[in-house]
Amino acid sequence: MISFWEQNSFIHYDVIVVGSGITGLSCAAHIKESNPDLDILVLERGIFPSGASTKNAGFACFGSLTELVSDLNTLTTDQMLDLVELRWNGLSKLRGRLGDEKIGFINNGGYELISTKEESALERLDFINSELNSIFKEDVFQLVNSKIDEFGFNKEFVRQLVINKFESQIDTGAMMRNLLGYCQQLGINLINGTEIESIDENDEQVNVVTKSGLTFTAKEVAITTNAFTKKLYPDLTLNPGRGIVLITDPIEDLPFQGTFHYDEGYYYFRNYGNQVIFGGGRNLDVEGETTTSFDVNEFILSRLKQLLNEVILPNHEYKIAHSWAGIMAFGENKEPIVKPHSQHVTLGVRMGGMGVAIGSMIGEQLGNMILGKL
Ligand SMILES: Cc1cc2nc3c(=O)[nH]c(=O)nc-3n(C[C@H](O)[C@H](O)[C@H](O)COP(=O)(O)OP(=O)(O)OC[C@H]3O[C@@H](n4cnc5c(N)ncnc54)[C@H](O)[C@@H]3O)c2cc1C
Repeated sequence: MISFWEQNSFIHYDVIVVGSGITGLSCAAHIKESNPDLDILVLERGIFPSGASTKNAGFACFGSLTELVSDLNTLTTDQMLDLVELRWNGLSKLRGRLGDEKIGFINNGGYELISTKEESALERLDFINSELNSIFKEDVFQLVNSKIDEFGFNKEFVRQLVINKFESQIDTGAMMRNLLGYCQQLGINLINGTEIESIDENDEQVNVVTKSGLTFTAKEVAITTNAFTKKLYPDLTLNPGRGIVLITDPIEDLPFQGTFHYDEGYYYFRNYGNQVIFGGGRNLDVEGETTTSFDVNEFILSRLKQLLNEVILPNHEYKIAHSWAGIMAFGENKEPIVKPHSQHVTLGVRMGGMGVAIGSMIGEQLGNMILGKL
């Protein structure tokens, strides 16, 4: 039974945000930046944020050439450009809010490995460049085949290499820790280790019911639980998608720096100092990876190790230091869900493989919807 004091001081808020990934924290930060008098609580089920935001590979990217070409199968050119712009603006917002040092932002450029299978996408390079010109004012993608040797890739496999000088990398852990610190500095309340089991509302307030049975209340609630949202709202059109990531031990004379994509963004690797972080392969077992379990799929992991050995680091001795899994959320197209769910509950979920880039802007959009109702 809670005390009178607890009831008076700990239970009621102007806004409750459920989920402390990049979207939830950005939403809370935007609301507090806009109106410092509002009392905001962020509730998180994990000891620390435990979704995709602390488990991705730290790419500050807005789409590789083959990814953007493939997007045009499901999106109009304008929709594809809007998403690129949202990603670019989201990254700028994140950099502006925390500063490059605090997010470990490094611009070493991004590259895409083109094997025979993807070579036809190069025919669209000029078209994609001319469309992206409205955002970047210069060509984004260029062929740099001379670097295939310099980087030591297997030339039988990597037929061509495309550079994107605008792409960068971040330190995912530092970014999330500093975003949490920023929210605390603003005076946002954060409670971890608290899973929300259900949410109901009446005319006066929203009741946010925790697994332990305690109920918090708020005038407005933001749901930013991404891949885990179906537990709260089973009818939502959203599927979890697991991504496997590994990191090597330090590698002497690592010949490349930067972020690298392959196969429409399904595979991605980068340097972290002189270590290599490599992830992807979800398309090898789409059904098996449609899960919220954090287990590592051994079949996909073995395929990643094979690609690392045969294509990316064919001439190097190295050891795998660690591997892990993160859960993303996907829908019928790449657009996130940012909309009211009921009178006082608003959703900002389904960030796909883009939430590092768009999370700050989606948090802002969600925050503005809530500010408009207070
Ligand atoms: C392997 C991998 C690679 C990726 N690569 C990229 C990339 O290159 N570029 C890019 O932009 N993005 C990338 N992403 C995607 C990006 O990480 C996500 O889109 C983004 O982090 C989603 O942020 P979010 O805050 O919306 O959700 P999450 O980070 O998933 O946060 C949701 C939070 O809600 C909490 N939660 C869930 N249910 C409850 C509940 N009932 N009660 C309380 N709390 C709850 C979770 O614990 C979690 O902390 C990648 C993701 C992965 C996993």
